[in-house]
Amino acid sequence: AAQLNQRYTFDNFVIGNGNQFARAAALAVAERPSRAYNPLFLYGGVGMGKTHLMHAIGHEVKRRNPASVISYVSAEKFTNEMITSLRNDRMTSFRDRFRSVDVLLIDDIQFIAQKERTQEEFFHTFNALHESMRQIVIASDRPPKELAEIEDRLRSRFEWGLIADIQPPDLETKVAILQKKAESEQVVLPTDVALFIASNVRTNVRELEGALVRLIAWCQLNHVEITLSATQQCLKQFIDMQVRKVTIEAIQRAVAEQFGMRVADLKQKNNSRQVVVPRQIAMYLAKQMTEASLPEIGRQFGNKHHTTVMHSIGKIDEQRRTDKDLHRMLNKLQETLNG
Ligand code: ADP
Ligand code: MG
Repeated sequence: AAQLNQRYTFDNFVIGNGNQFARAAALAVAERPSRAYNPLFLYGGVGMGKTHLMHAIGHEVKRRNPASVISYVSAEKFTNEMITSLRNDRMTSFRDRFRSVDVLLIDDIQFIAQKERTQEEFFHTFNALHESMRQIVIASDRPPKELAEIEDRLRSRFEWGLIADIQPPDLETKVAILQKKAESEQVVLPTDVALFIASNVRTNVRELEGALVRLIAWCQLNHVEITLSATQQCLKQFIDMQVRKVTIEAIQRAVAEQFGMRVADLKQKNNSRQVVVPRQIAMYLAKQMTEASLPEIGRQFGNKHHTTVMHSIGKIDEQRRTDKDLHRMLNKLQETLNG
């Protein structure tokens, strides 16, 4: 179908912890329309891949059965077309159009909240399709339960089939998405660059891709290779703009919470092992995530000498390379702090 984006296929969709359930459900639906789950209700935040998965279903259904009729429409477009049809006395053709498809993919359904007439019309469309065993796939920014201001009879239908959520990608998934995207652009993306982008750009995949597109263009225009330092330079503003500024206080709070201790413990002259390691971790993160100098970091950790700070950072840096658990914990902390 013409309305489908060629890039949004299952092949191009990177599987991660947060999306594997939704992806598997989408694939099952594409393989057995109206026989697996009907409707399939996908929900998740902005840029999580909901629209991508819907298009992927469309492509896959079409690939398996070229004769099938697929319609992808945003709830907003559905609404506008309905209004136009009402005005021009063409409701019959509007209804025929949506009730004759094999697969209806309707995106951003939250849009019809408070729109009674649209809900009414969609209710009948839904029933007509469901009764004649046609597949319906719905995407939303929130689960059916939280779709306040959508009639109960419609909301309850959204819960008839399968509800699948998409959670934000973790760091590894973000890196994989970037590498896949770079590959499709035929660009070599060094791992340290991918990691830098993935850990500095928020979890929204669209912004992640935006950063990569910007980087590729910037390096091409400046005739430089894609290196970490080029990336830092090119994305500095971009990242400052969208990443919440991380403060040493926030780092101390996050680390204290992680280890079940008080922030004050990180600053005291206590050198027991239980305190030393978390303190080293917090200093390391302060160096990685803020622009504070070594003496400044030292001051915020109970007036430690800058050489002590440097030693601490070096220790964690070294350990991170071999200690998988530590590496994972640091990723997690960084992710939390980046919001
Ligand atoms: P949503 O509809 O949830 O707001 P989109 O489907 O529009 O998000 O995704 C935003 C962008 O991120 C698209 O370019 C999409 O291809 C990409 N994207 C999201 N998740 C993935 C993924 N798991 N693998 C590859 N690309 C993804
Ligand atoms: Mg979308």
